[in-house]
Amino acid sequence: MNIHRSEHLYKEALDVIVGGVNSPSRSFRAVGGGAPIFMKKARGAYFWDEDGNRYIDYLAAFGPIILGHAHPAVTSAIMETAVNGVLYGTPTEKEVRFAQLLRRLIPSMEQIRFTNSGTEAVMTAIRLARAYTGRDKIIKFAGCYHGHSDLVLVAAGSGPSTLGIPDSAGIPASIAQEVITVPYNHPDALKEAIDAWGDQVAAVLVEPLVGNFGIVPPAPGFLEQVNEWAHQAGALVIYDEVITAFRFHYGGVQTLFNVEPDITALGKIIGGGLPIGAYGGKREIMEKVAPTGPMYQAGTMAGNPLSISAGMACIQTLSLPGTYERLDQMGKELCDAISMLAEKYGIPVTINRVGGAFTVYFTDQPVVDYQGAQAADGELFAQFFRLLLEEGVYLAPSKYEAWFLTTAHTDEDIQFTIRAVERAFKKMKPH
Ligand code: PMP
Repeated sequence: MNIHRSEHLYKEALDVIVGGVNSPSRSFRAVGGGAPIFMKKARGAYFWDEDGNRYIDYLAAFGPIILGHAHPAVTSAIMETAVNGVLYGTPTEKEVRFAQLLRRLIPSMEQIRFTNSGTEAVMTAIRLARAYTGRDKIIKFAGCYHGHSDLVLVAAGSGPSTLGIPDSAGIPASIAQEVITVPYNHPDALKEAIDAWGDQVAAVLVEPLVGNFGIVPPAPGFLEQVNEWAHQAGALVIYDEVITAFRFHYGGVQTLFNVEPDITALGKIIGGGLPIGAYGGKREIMEKVAPTGPMYQAGTMAGNPLSISAGMACIQTLSLPGTYERLDQMGKELCDAISMLAEKYGIPVTINRVGGAFTVYFTDQPVVDYQGAQAADGELFAQFFRLLLEEGVYLAPSKYEAWFLTTAHTDEDIQFTIRAVERAFKKMKPH
């Protein structure tokens, strides 16, 4: 495959944009390095790169593009809004209507505030929990990603109830000390941390269904236990539903699983592909936020008409009958075929799938936590990624990411992908 223009653009990018990319997860470092593919155009389930190659897109921009690219409903909403001005710095009716719609679908969000990104939403949800409880520490789960604010870029200490160490340069040790990291799906480790630090904990922060070390559902009873123990200790529960909301059904996974957090953070799909985030929760907690209360958070672009209109169009379109059934059916078909082919070609594979999102881990062990995902073979994934790319199938360039199906994928796309997977497996060399 000819990717000369991508290679050339990458060279130029490396000179002027640090690392050549505006977000590290776009680089191909985790899959052997070299130029990432520079995309020129996207429509429906397809990308076209700068050299004219076509790819079936399973990245969906790391989640938001659930309707496929340039969906007419979203595109017209953006265009109709743009002609009336893109940013006012005043309240608008659209924001009220969108907040009402989100509250109807995720009722624990009694009051809502829009932000510009998932990072901001989670960062502020934590500040709010601290403001409400008057406590400083948070408990989070290893491998869960919550954006790039200081507090959540902290890795596990050496044991489940030790304090954290920074995962990035530039984060003060004093901040990392406020974070306790425990393994996901291990209630005993959470209990141990709560027993040790519970009276200082403002919140337990969790992806209620993990999307950031691949797709990992909560074990039965796990989320109920998080709620029970956090609340017993006087801490709040924050759900980071930046990936999960509207991905698996028409609402948050909290409404799917019937467990409610105190505060929820949203992003990605609710912006229809434009920048957005939101946080919300019980009225009594949200009233701590300025101008009603003493906790400050603001944003020049927050709730801007373009993001709100695109988000509204996306969420309304997702309500069409059969949307989630179709995503689930395509996901099942693809995963069943991948499992069957993996067996046929002797490739060790574990697939975690929920609806139209799944991760193919190159391991024969079940993956229920970060350690399990780490144990999956990155070298085999890199081979798989490169071979599929050659076939015109674009996956996220990391073994820790998910494949996201969109409503734009067709049965032919699924069949094309299955044939590509078979050719890839045939060439792969497990060591
Ligand atoms: N939380 C989760 C669960 C995420 O997956 C992400 C982004 N991948 C974020 C927060 C941060 O969102 P953003 O990139 O919009 O800042």
